Amino acid sequence: MNHERLDLDKKDILLIDDMADNLRILSSLLTKEGYNVRKALNWQMALTACQTVLPDLILLDIMMPEIDGYEACQRFKASELTANIPVIFISALDDTFDKVKAFRVGGVDYITKPFELAEVLVRVQSQLKLRSAQLEILKLNTELEQRVKQRTSELEKALQKLQGEITSRQQLQSKLLDIALHDSLTGLPNRVLFIRRLEKALNRAKQDANYQFALLYLDCDRFKVVNDSLGHLVGDELLIAIAHRLKTSVVPVGTLARLGGDEFGILLENLTDISIAIQVAERILQQLSLAFKLSRYEVFMSASIGIAWGNKEYDRPEYLLRDADTAMYRAKALGRVRYHIFDPAMYQEAIQLLELENDLRRAVARREFLVYYQPIISLSTGRITGFEALARWQHPSRGLISPIEFIPVAEETGLIGAINLWVLQSACHQLHLWQNHPAISEIITISVNLSARLFSLPNLIAKIDEIINETNVNPANLELEITESVIMENSQAVKAILQQLQERKIKLIMDDFGTGYSSLSYLHSFPLNALKIDKSFVKRMLENQEDMGLVPAMISIAESMGMRAIAEGVETREQLAQLRSLNCDFAQGYLFSQPIEQQLALNLLTRAPQW
Ligand code: C2E
Ligand code: CA
Ligand code: CA
Repeated sequence: MNHERLDLDKKDILLIDDMADNLRILSSLLTKEGYNVRKALNWQMALTACQTVLPDLILLDIMMPEIDGYEACQRFKASELTANIPVIFISALDDTFDKVKAFRVGGVDYITKPFELAEVLVRVQSQLKLRSAQLEILKLNTELEQRVKQRTSELEKALQKLQGEITSRQQLQSKLLDIALHDSLTGLPNRVLFIRRLEKALNRAKQDANYQFALLYLDCDRFKVVNDSLGHLVGDELLIAIAHRLKTSVVPVGTLARLGGDEFGILLENLTDISIAIQVAERILQQLSLAFKLSRYEVFMSASIGIAWGNKEYDRPEYLLRDADTAMYRAKALGRVRYHIFDPAMYQEAIQLLELENDLRRAVARREFLVYYQPIISLSTGRITGFEALARWQHPSRGLISPIEFIPVAEETGLIGAINLWVLQSACHQLHLWQNHPAISEIITISVNLSARLFSLPNLIAKIDEIINETNVNPANLELEITESVIMENSQAVKAILQQLQERKIKLIMDDFGTGYSSLSYLHSFPLNALKIDKSFVKRMLENQEDMGLVPAMISIAESMGMRAIAEGVETREQLAQLRSLNCDFAQGYLFSQPIEQQLALNLLTRAPQW
């Protein structure tokens, strides 16, 4: 049994929390420390408790059903009976706890869950001390009214003490407010404070036509890699070092803030010339390009910066921040380690991209995709030996959308898995139909593009097996086209997947060969069957009549590694003749056919044209 007996000498603390567990932990801690603790699970119980005996201190949870902490505090403050009882808020770390609001409704302090027991005690003790000082003053004041004369000296002492307590309380208050507005790791202003400053700048711009300001939004490039590989402590150390460098780069005109994670904001005010913002961005990029010598590691870190010009037309500071953020994303998309200036057209684009994302989600659910087939020709026989499957999106209002537009969005949003596997499934199904078609006698292959993202699916091989079994195709006639980025990772996981594909006799083709960064030594250690020479090289072949550019070298690389060479983007008879003279094995391109629907592909196959 839990006896909650009231001991009049002890300080009385009322705990209000809807979670019985929290109540128990806090209550046993405080009871051990010699406090009288009473518990309330909701507002009604709390009210009854206060009416029975007034507590000296209230610990109040923010997150409660019906009446939340802010509201409860406001009610306590509104009632004469409870107005002077100090209220300390309790919040979980992941609550969206609004500290400023907490102070505004009359809270004096806050404690975060999970509890640091020592911290809880210090905060409780300090508030109780303040409270008893207050009560003492109150008591003295009433006595004073009757005995003014004798007690003048005592009064003075008490007043002094009061003064002291008040200042220390004010200091505490402002310190807490300070904590609420700053980032604890770097000590920089946080997002809340930054937005307030932005708002001020915006208001000033509305009043003073000569006042110019700009906003820089900075995001570190690949910061996650540091965190993941070297650990969060090193990540924190690096963030502090970055903050330090940024500080020196933005003086004397700017406010630097940490907006969260690896993102920083810089507000540049009183600009005489707006191009100063560009100079600052350049200086930052230059500063960040130098190595960071941390306690245990030397680390390199770059950043991408979005710039938005201050403009009195903005209704809210958040919009300005959003635009700088959009520009920052553009800087990333353009290859990182650079700045980009916001242009209103980007906002339009961002909205369109968002629409595309939404449409794509719906498209996956409604299967709005098609597969087109482009023939691949054997240069020794001049006949079709297979097809490359290429995805198309049949958009309900925009018509056919090219994969160049939607595949990157699908990769960005994670929808690529579903789409790509659907293409594989359709292409295999098609292959099965063709293989059993009475008019088709030769064996043909189907090539399907496999996004690098698919390699991080945990069950890729199982999915592929499932598709092969369902569609009943011979895996030896299936080819998967991968890009150099897959190989570049050189991870054991990727190697294992490629190995398993090889065991199933599935062919692997290196697509867009020559456009990536893969070194030949890498190529060697992967089980590739063919290199597909990117169309840009085939195109340039004509321009370099003499040496035909890099194509001859690529074909001999393929040959020397025992792989086939496929040329893509063949558009002219001259290119075809050149490729033949170089002993290229296969070719693909508009000269033979554009990617076409399944029925047209069948016609092409049965008509058996020869090139
Ligand atoms: P890719 O794999 O390099 O595919 C070849 C692209 O070149 C196709 O564009 C094709 O229409 C085009 N092409 C073919 N012959 C010629 C030619 O003679 N001249 C020129 N200029 N272009 C030619 P498409 O169909 O628009 O596909 C673009 C890219 O989208 C593909 O490039 C591939 O990377 C990606 N993609 C298409 N379907 C899928 C898919 O199902 N999964 C994945 N992951 N990616 C796909
Ligand atoms: Ca391809
Ligand atoms: Ca290609």
